[in-house]
Amino acid sequence: MKTAVMQRTRIDPDSAGQYLDNGQDFIQKGRIELLLEPQKEPEAHEVRDILSKSVSLQRLGPIEAATLLRIKDPELWQEAFAAAGSVKDRVYGARIVTFAPLYCSNMCENSCVYCGFRRDNSNIVRRKLSLAEIRQETKALISLGHKRLIVVFGEHSETSIAYITDTIKTIYATKIDRGEIRRVNLNAAPMSIEDYRLLEQVGLGTCQVFQETYHRETYRKVHPKGTKADYRWRLYALHRAQEAGIDDVAVGALFGLYDWRFEVLGLLLHTIDLEEKFLGVGPHTVSFPRVNQAINTRFYAGNPWRVGDEDLLRAIAVLRLSIPYTGMIITAREPASLRRRAIEIGCTQTDGSARIAVGSYARNSPSQQTRREQFTLNDSSSLDEIVYAMAEMGMLASFCTAGYRCGRTGRRFMEIAKQGKVHEFCVPNAILTLKEYLLDFASQPTREIGQKLIEEQKGKLPPSLRHAVDAGLRRIETGERDVYL
Ligand code: SAM
Ligand code: SF4
Repeated sequence: MKTAVMQRTRIDPDSAGQYLDNGQDFIQKGRIELLLEPQKEPEAHEVRDILSKSVSLQRLGPIEAATLLRIKDPELWQEAFAAAGSVKDRVYGARIVTFAPLYCSNMCENSCVYCGFRRDNSNIVRRKLSLAEIRQETKALISLGHKRLIVVFGEHSETSIAYITDTIKTIYATKIDRGEIRRVNLNAAPMSIEDYRLLEQVGLGTCQVFQETYHRETYRKVHPKGTKADYRWRLYALHRAQEAGIDDVAVGALFGLYDWRFEVLGLLLHTIDLEEKFLGVGPHTVSFPRVNQAINTRFYAGNPWRVGDEDLLRAIAVLRLSIPYTGMIITAREPASLRRRAIEIGCTQTDGSARIAVGSYARNSPSQQTRREQFTLNDSSSLDEIVYAMAEMGMLASFCTAGYRCGRTGRRFMEIAKQGKVHEFCVPNAILTLKEYLLDFASQPTREIGQKLIEEQKGKLPPSLRHAVDAGLRRIETGERDVYL
């Protein structure tokens, strides 16, 4: 009863009205199904025309994306992967942004059937971190070398907006002699415009809400109870966030709930709708987590929609080609080998040293860990290992947060990204922030390979930028920190 009252006060059923087109949502199941109908396989020339449009950094429409999703010929898929890799290279250059998830609470009133935190999972040990514990976790993450976090919460009356804003303020205020967190992003339940305004005021970075599945019937089945059962409240969460002034928003779908092709088109339609309603500003990033095993959760074993590795890579490639200028995230949910492939063909951000049990950075007790985790991770690489692995691929691990502090967010960022110019800022700043990491936190092998990569990448910059980077590197070597262009 108490929950029902709380739900009514939290969700404003009329708030979606202003975002509808002729009373209709931007997700039209029939339209998506029509696009995905297994008509004849696309001709090679049709596919190549679409790939070249994408390589010229134009966003694809749903019909074009659906054509790519209907490719059957493995050689054409290889062409699509290669085109996706080159689009990513042109827009973002040889850099990959790093971050860590910080799980603050696993208390949850919802019943998502795939999630270890769901309310009726009695095998989970429930915890909400105090602000003192948030400080400890933050210090532990800073001492690993992190500069960016994403804070994650279940949905519960104990983790109100006041708790979330206090958490963000506490993280920004925590400093140790070798660093601080410079960017806090958020993954939490959908909120009202008023609450998103409060988040904007405390300096929230990107606001991430995954729709999980864009397919309504499936959504209903996998979210049987709680606030999350409201598909529409979630579908327009990021519209409300933008309305509140948060200009970096992030979409995602949980792959493995329904047909992955449907979700790819759902993500694209979501992007298009945000762009249309908010002066061209679509999502800052797209995520495509895959459902993993979770403690005491049967969903995984009997799931008919499980997405294989090759299909996940196809989804990533089609999204990279469809929205050439948008960041894309791959996490430690995936094994290391797949993470590398995903980065080659499209992903621009990844996590390192990730732990998803509440309170497990400062105090690591493996016996308790799995009973506090949302699901099981498939890659336990430390941040240092990730930085090393990226350098082996010729990629600069970037700790840069300069863009946000120089106003390169929202519309300004999109303008730069759509012209394929992100790398002009990002590569120099990736070099500078990697240098800081190498001096302050890296192991000897990582320091060596990283330094070599810095020299190589510096050599590729135009002379004026190279001089600016050299000057920045000298300042860092003499002890200055947080140097950026
Ligand atoms: N509780 C908030 C919500 O649901 O919006 C915050 C997000 S939840 C802690 C983070 C995300 O983890 C979910 O949006 C979902 O996509 C993903 N997730 C949940 N269960 C998962 C599982 N078994 N495997 C992989 N990802 C999962
Ligand atoms: Fe709660 Fe989010 Fe897990 Fe659903 S996905 S049970 S809302 S933590």
